[in-house]
Amino acid sequence: YRAKERGGNCYCFYSQEMVRIGEQWVLRSELRNAVHRNELFLHYQPRYEVESSKLVGMEALVRWLHPENGVMFPGTFINLAEKTGLILEIDRWVLEAACARVKQWQEAGEIHASVSVNLSYLHFKEPDCVQMVMDILRKTGLHPGCLEIELTESVFVEEAEVALDMMRQLKMLGVRIAIDDFGTGYSALHYLKKFPFDTLKIDRSFLENVTISEADGVILRTVIDMAKKLNLRVVAEGVETEEQLSYLREHACDEVQGYLLSRPVPEEQMEKLLFSISN
Ligand code: C2E
Ligand code: MG
Ligand code: MG
Ligand code: MG
Repeated sequence: YRAKERGGNCYCFYSQEMVRIGEQWVLRSELRNAVHRNELFLHYQPRYEVESSKLVGMEALVRWLHPENGVMFPGTFINLAEKTGLILEIDRWVLEAACARVKQWQEAGEIHASVSVNLSYLHFKEPDCVQMVMDILRKTGLHPGCLEIELTESVFVEEAEVALDMMRQLKMLGVRIAIDDFGTGYSALHYLKKFPFDTLKIDRSFLENVTISEADGVILRTVIDMAKKLNLRVVAEGVETEEQLSYLREHACDEVQGYLLSRPVPEEQMEKLLFSISN
């Protein structure tokens, strides 16, 4: 309003900044209520085995149906959730909802696909993290072998020893552990040796130019080879083109996930995918 009074073409940086801070503050209090107001829901993105083209897993991805803004994607609120600690509650909700749904699908038919859930590094500062996973598995009845937990490299930067201990306990439960967005963070390679991963998810940035840039190809092939030598299952994220898929097939990547195969879909659609495909 001030800017208009002053003649139209100038804007007031100060008040814009205040608006932004105000919006974040409002969003924070709305996010605080999102869980118990049932505003969170899940999309699932299928994961396929390259060799057999079978649907072998799915990743649960959180969405927030905001009362005014409509559907909000994690990129718009996960940071805020981590800053405020609300991520602990959100992830717990996601874990339970995903485990319960998959258990239900398994009871309805011959479903062998497992489910992957993202856990923020903040859980690894919580002494009851392993207990939380145990409780949810017990409560939902999901077999631990059907659950994979996806962690990003931030987990290993802080409190590496505590994280290692918790991961070992999760492994003892029978839960699998994936390193997510591999190659985007600190990527110290010794983490791969030190931590008991089962799966390595190659970040989609490594795929982008793989069919046109020889250097990108070399990096991708090296990551796949290394992961295999360490006995990790290799999953490529963000597969968008046929060319990328055939490249991955040619270089023996185990599994793929990406828009080419399927976008993340609502649970009704995931259910159709699970029950229509003969596995
Ligand atoms: P992520 O775990 O690496 O998940 C993959 C992201 O890539 C998803 O974004 C997915 O929609 C997107 N994606 C999949 N295939 C393609 C593709 O072919 N092309 C492109 N361009 N993108 C693709 P989304 O759902 O927006 O999630 C973003 C990130 O938010 C996730 O990255 C994950 O780090 C985080 N996140 C999502 N759900 C949760 C959750 O429940 N808890 C926590 N802590 N983080 C979550
Ligand atoms: Mg993930
Ligand atoms: Mg990822
Ligand atoms: Mg990510």
